[in-house]
Amino acid sequence: MAASIVLGGCLCGAVRYEATGEPYNITHCHCADCRKNSGAPFVTWASFRGHSFRLTHGTPHEIAWAGRVRSFCANCGTTLTFLSEPDADEVDVAVCSFDYPDAILPQDHTWTEDRLPWIQLADDLPRYARTRNKK
Ligand SMILES: [Zn+2]
Ligand SMILES: [Zn+2]
Repeated sequence: MAASIVLGGCLCGAVRYEATGEPYNITHCHCADCRKNSGAPFVTWASFRGHSFRLTHGTPHEIAWAGRVRSFCANCGTTLTFLSEPDADEVDVAVCSFDYPDAILPQDHTWTEDRLPWIQLADDLPRYARTRNKK
């Protein structure tokens, strides 16, 4: 498989990152925490192995919440990353912070039990009430 590099960053450009390897577990997360954190109805995440993600400019602000660690640009507020626990070896990156988010294909919807009733899903992707492992 050809190596791929995903480049991305925040709205204002203060934080830039690169990730190598194929992103996986690309999901639209409808959970209430992602919603509140982003100010959007749901957030699309792509997972990378922790060692394959690195910052190339700036340092995002991190906040621990509900045992997870989320990061965002302290200047412009763009949602950037999510760790399921502080020392997780997997980082979820907000797909819409990629320079080319159209280059990936979401695989499913997660936490649909929290989905806002005015978000009507019209795709055929699998839907999980919570995580994809526990329906
Ligand atoms: Zn920024
Ligand atoms: Zn979520």
